Amino acid sequence: MVLDTMDELSAHLRHLHDESPLLVAVFDGADRLRYANPAYRQAYAVAEGESPTWAELMRRNALAGRGLVIDAPDMDVWLTSAFSRRGKTPYRTVEAKLHDGRWLLMAETVSASGWMLCVGTDITEMRADARAVRRDRDAAIRAAHTDDLTGVANRRFVTARVEDMLARSGLALGLGTPGCLAVLDLDNFKYINDRYGHQAGDAVLRDFARRINVQVRRSDCFGRVGGEEFVLVLPDTALDEAALIVERMLGLVRTARPLDDRPDFAYTFSAGVAMARSGDTFSELYGRADKALYAAKMDGRNRVRLEEAPAPPLRMAEKGI
Ligand code: GH3
Ligand code: MG
Ligand code: MG
Repeated sequence: MVLDTMDELSAHLRHLHDESPLLVAVFDGADRLRYANPAYRQAYAVAEGESPTWAELMRRNALAGRGLVIDAPDMDVWLTSAFSRRGKTPYRTVEAKLHDGRWLLMAETVSASGWMLCVGTDITEMRADARAVRRDRDAAIRAAHTDDLTGVANRRFVTARVEDMLARSGLALGLGTPGCLAVLDLDNFKYINDRYGHQAGDAVLRDFARRINVQVRRSDCFGRVGGEEFVLVLPDTALDEAALIVERMLGLVRTARPLDDRPDFAYTFSAGVAMARSGDTFSELYGRADKALYAAKMDGRNRVRLEEAPAPPLRMAEKGI
């Protein structure tokens, strides 16, 4: 048998994609559509050569009443929630209903670099009786991973992403860049509640979550872990790079004016960042980030602090050997 060259294989693949009723699309790490076959473009109303982000695509289709049927009263809330979990696990399947009446099973595969392959199959004819049960199950999984107030990922979901980061084989072998954890805590939040009321406090939390969420890279994960405490998981990221990312987020938050009836009101957060080490448990890594957060608070808040560098191993003489 003669093996095809890569060029021949690509041509065959391309032809099959053009002819197939399967929906095939590729999104890059910034969630921009980089390839879609005709079936995908038809289902989601994308012109040839167009390259919208997934959020842009969902938003404009919702406005035009085409593409995906979105069962949520508020598009922004739906997008925040969907975006905070989209592409954060290497593989998942979801069922989706289209405005044209079709049901699709979408399988999403995500590479370590954050690129995503979406393949959709028409399942309209399949087991319609069991569909309600599967939809309920999907909704229950979604609810179990989502923070009610802000719509971003919750403690359970981000904890699992930290565990994923720590479990990666490269870390155990001491290879590559291990990744970082940042703990972000709103400053003087008790005062904000006391001064402006609990409702305003909730509005600030939602503003913060939405603002940060849209900045988060595909390979990273952001979620709310407690009252006014949030976590950012940054796999494959060095400490100084993580610090820059969180600093940039702090800069954006400083310019926010989230209370319509208090146009002068501004808020800030403090953050502690720690880098994963070989053999780390979740609580060890979290503990170091939390310690750095405490230092940021002690330094006057509204700033990012890195964990202290690990103490160098004692030399023989110092050990008294
Ligand atoms: P620091 O700058 O040191 O972090 O001070 P702080 O006031 O932010 O910290 P503290 O932990 O003393 O207060 C946190 C406050 O957050 C207390 C609690 O009432 C409030 N809080 C927790 N969850 C929610 C919530 O869901 N909504 C609102 N509005 N407030 C919340
Ligand atoms: Mg606080
Ligand atoms: Mg706190």
